[in-house]
Amino acid sequence: MLLDQWGRPLRDLRLSVTDRCNLRCTYCMPAEVFGPDHAFLPRAELLSFEEIERLARIFVGLGVEKLRITGGEPTLRRDLPDLISRLAGIAGVRDLAMTTNGLLLPRLAGDLKAAGLARVTVSLDSLDPQVFGQMNGLGVSPQKVLDGIEAALRAGLGVKINTVVKRGVNDAHLTELWRGLREFGPVRFIEFMDVGNHNGWNMDSVLPSGEVLARLAEAGPLTPLAPAQRGEVATRYRDTEGHELGLISSVTAPFCGDCTRARLSAVGVLYTCLFAGQGHDLRGPLQAGASDTDLRGQIQAIWQGRRDRYSEERSEAGNAERVKVEMSHIGG
Ligand code: SAM
Ligand code: SF4
Ligand code: SF4
Repeated sequence: MLLDQWGRPLRDLRLSVTDRCNLRCTYCMPAEVFGPDHAFLPRAELLSFEEIERLARIFVGLGVEKLRITGGEPTLRRDLPDLISRLAGIAGVRDLAMTTNGLLLPRLAGDLKAAGLARVTVSLDSLDPQVFGQMNGLGVSPQKVLDGIEAALRAGLGVKINTVVKRGVNDAHLTELWRGLREFGPVRFIEFMDVGNHNGWNMDSVLPSGEVLARLAEAGPLTPLAPAQRGEVATRYRDTEGHELGLISSVTAPFCGDCTRARLSAVGVLYTCLFAGQGHDLRGPLQAGASDTDLRGQIQAIWQGRRDRYSEERSEAGNAERVKVEMSHIGG
């Protein structure tokens, strides 16, 4: 088994397929930074679907079992169902999922499901139009996301919901959010993280998961669930009606010790941590004619050398100044 320097296996691969997005969430791509003049990755530099499939096959050969498509907003990538059917055809892939803001699901969910996508995680931070509109930077209504969630469910896709919690921004109505969304699938509350370099993160704007849990428990008793597998990032609970709640405590209870994820950007740069400053270019060798064996050897060496544990080191000297990859390049 391929293990990194801390004995962590390579199990998950997140594939970012674009750095573009149709929202401007303040915690990810704030509109004042990602404005009309922002230079996105040139389309010609994006990995083609053939290239993504080829790399994904090599990763699966090295132990990856789960693939997650992300972005930017992955549904903006043209012909996305074609990529899904290529990835679904790789023997050894046990789970094929996508993280999305849901806006384009009414148009795409059926084709994605037919192509072999199993599940979507849809991000929705508030059911209050004012609050959600402010958080997504463009005034988009939560109803648009709910329409996407409903389309996904109608198409037969599994649905989970991700909510990023920012203290003083969307934490006033967490129980209403939980009550409103739990019918659709597991809801996961994520601590606001210091990803990228532009979201103005500070510890005061993090609402610790412990506090989220205390507030949600006001809506009814919650029973802790045992982890289903290694590398599971959410601590899970169930309410009395069987709805599932997850807490992702990346800041207050880091889970680096179990981090089995690699991330490939839309231009083929491999990152071994969400907070990495630098990645490893795989597109260069791929396009220079490297064989599968060469690429496999490179990926193997990168993973074997991996020592990342940023979230556990966050408060150590020097880390606050670190320049990190943007979330829109590697997709969370
Ligand atoms: N555009 C898609 C979406 O929003 O679901 C996929 C990409 S997005 C970068 C992936 C996930 O990262 C989303 O659930 C988003 O809410 C989360 N995210 C982005 N910035 C974050 C931050 N600063 N802290 C915590 N989660 C964040
Ligand atoms: Fe776009 Fe997703 Fe980032 Fe929001 S979190 S700006 S939807 S990529
Ligand atoms: Fe994994 Fe890096 Fe997050 Fe730690 S900080 S859990 S190593 S991605």
